[in-house]
Amino acid sequence: MMIAAKIYAAFDEVSQRSTRPRKLIADRLIELASSCADFTVEDLWQELRQAEPRIGRATVYRSVEKLVNMGLLDRIEFADGTHHYRVCGGSEHHHHLTCTQCHRVVDIDICLPADQFAAIGDQADFVIEGHALTLFGRCKNCRTQGERAFFEKSTPLPPDNTYSSEDAPGEAQ
Ligand SMILES: [Zn+2]
Ligand SMILES: [Zn+2]
Ligand SMILES: [Zn+2]
Repeated sequence: MMIAAKIYAAFDEVSQRSTRPRKLIADRLIELASSCADFTVEDLWQELRQAEPRIGRATVYRSVEKLVNMGLLDRIEFADGTHHYRVCGGSEHHHHLTCTQCHRVVDIDICLPADQFAAIGDQADFVIEGHALTLFGRCKNCRTQGERAFFEKSTPLPPDNTYSSEDAPGEAQ
């Protein structure tokens, strides 16, 4: 698996010594890569401590930061200002769509066309060198749950009187 080799290489670059904490972090990230799960540094640290109680939060934090800078880990922003990390693969350019309610993350391979970025640069007299784009919304699951909660709480709907004679089927023209 490509991503595994890249993650191991990233850790080798940091230090010639392959320490146990680094190996544990790399192994766990490779597992997370195959499951596409997103996580916080806190989650990762707590998991790693089960295997190695002496592993420091700072070590985990620095490793995650390093991998983000190398493009091997994606940092995913949520609408409420919190963020998670995910091993997305690190090669294909893509963005994220996140649910404002359940924090579900979806990869999207849609981006603005290059001439749009050029136009933005021209307008502000910048040379655009990169971008980050996160879309927020509510997933189908959360919308369905929202509707259910609404109908369970509300009194029965009044008879449907919104149909006017013009809308009635068969009476058109
Ligand atoms: Zn992604
Ligand atoms: Zn949701
Ligand atoms: Zn893009």
